[in-house]
Amino acid sequence: MRRPLVAGNWKMHGTRASVAELIKGLRQLALPAGVEVAVMPPCLYINQVIQGLDGKSIVVGAQNCAVEPVQGALTGEVAASQLADVGCNLVLVGHSERRLILGESDEVVSRKFAAAQSCGLVPVLCVGETREQREAGKTLEVVGRQLGSVIEELGVGAFAQAVIAYEPVWAIGTGLTASPQQAQEVHAAIRSQLSAENAEVARGVRILYGGSVKAASAADLFGMPDIDGGLVGGASLNADEFGAICRAA
Ligand code: 13P
Repeated sequence: MRRPLVAGNWKMHGTRASVAELIKGLRQLALPAGVEVAVMPPCLYINQVIQGLDGKSIVVGAQNCAVEPVQGALTGEVAASQLADVGCNLVLVGHSERRLILGESDEVVSRKFAAAQSCGLVPVLCVGETREQREAGKTLEVVGRQLGSVIEELGVGAFAQAVIAYEPVWAIGTGLTASPQQAQEVHAAIRSQLSAENAEVARGVRILYGGSVKAASAADLFGMPDIDGGLVGGASLNADEFGAICRAA
């Protein structure tokens, strides 16, 4: 059985003071033992969060890493090896905000995925279609291409130690959530694409849903057979709401 994972992506939110408050709230949560819980603060605050959550079973991840896995001359970037050094376990790669606003290509995403794994981090590969692509009936094609490019570069075996997050762009930060059926359709397609190459890897990989997940919508989404938890943006900035989402998984 796949252990559900709920990860909070804090995006570019927070100050030292607000992060301290959030840590306090997270420490007070009663979290279900069967669910893996993670938070992904902005890089600057990762140390503060790791120290603040010491002894609490919440893993800490990053939102991005450099294409080069180890430290070196690459101004402004953070290497996966450095994230591992400070105690991160996970890292998002290919979040739609990076693909669409910062122009990250499938090739760059694959390199970051490989960089993360080479340093012992678990990459969380984000995929998802825009509203226009969904309306044009291209959802499965777009998601299939984003996933396929990593499979092509790194092989399906790379997904034995990775997580996938389906995040429809039109549902991110909009308050619109994919219906459980809409999400399940895409999650099943992702799993079957992997299964065509390696059934065992496909059965084991966790596929999270992301896009306006709230405590109220979480249980129905997480109840679908191929949805193994969530990648939560806005709602993860409120410890109580985030805790309720974790308990729904
Ligand atoms: P929201 O939950 O704010 O829609 O963000 C989803 C997301 O992008 C998580 O990575």
